Amino acid sequence: MPELPDVEHYKRYLTATALHQPIARVQVVAPALLTGITPQALGRMLKGKRFESARRHGKYLFIALDNGHWLALHFGMTGSLHYFRQPADAPAYSQCLFHFDNGFTLAYVDPRKLGRIALTDDPQTLIRKHQLGADALALSAGKFIDLAAGQRGQVKAWLMQQNLMAGIGNIYSDEILFQAGIHPRQIIGKLDEASLKRLYRALRAVLKTAIDAQADPEQMPASYLLPRRHAKGRCPKCGTPLERLQAAGRTAWFCPRHQPG
Ligand SMILES: [Zn+2]
Repeated sequence: MPELPDVEHYKRYLTATALHQPIARVQVVAPALLTGITPQALGRMLKGKRFESARRHGKYLFIALDNGHWLALHFGMTGSLHYFRQPADAPAYSQCLFHFDNGFTLAYVDPRKLGRIALTDDPQTLIRKHQLGADALALSAGKFIDLAAGQRGQVKAWLMQQNLMAGIGNIYSDEILFQAGIHPRQIIGKLDEASLKRLYRALRAVLKTAIDAQADPEQMPASYLLPRRHAKGRCPKCGTPLERLQAAGRTAWFCPRHQPG
């Protein structure tokens, strides 16, 4: 599932490819992905306009148009972007295609169709509507520690609460906890300040490292859990077989030796 590093990678990809070109036509294959706008209205709003810049908040990507509106993309479980020229290169499951005057196309690809596409006149409106907390990489250490105070939930679930901090999901919460040496079911309010600071440092380091690796598991450092989250995976630091448990309705992977319960 695309999390903060994946969406940051999409933002950079879009910025490097699809800006400043007039949009000739919008082709909506899966209208169910559109919220608050019909395919016809989206096509009318975007025809002749250009994508001017992009910003990210948590798992949302906002693309500024040259008419003051913003296209908001959420990538659900399986969404991604692909820019191409030849129609034969259109990826499978292209659900919305932005065809440009220059002959290229930007495809919003989403096999499971759980993503969302919307238009907004201000990203803040949508951020408020979805009650998103600060972007996880914009959170200060002090605010992070304040958010933890008195919280009785488990730390993995807490990291994934988009209304507290936006951008972290199942995969990166596991990595952050592994790098911080904290068990996924630890009660957040019971962590001492040193542990919380360690957790905060791990959060920033993991997200930045993953962005540098273009969110590609094969480009992650050898010390990372992420490429090993499977039944035969072993801890990259000590070789202990990884264990899994259910936390926040998701499967958490962890090293029982480095993350004692
Ligand atoms: Zn270990």
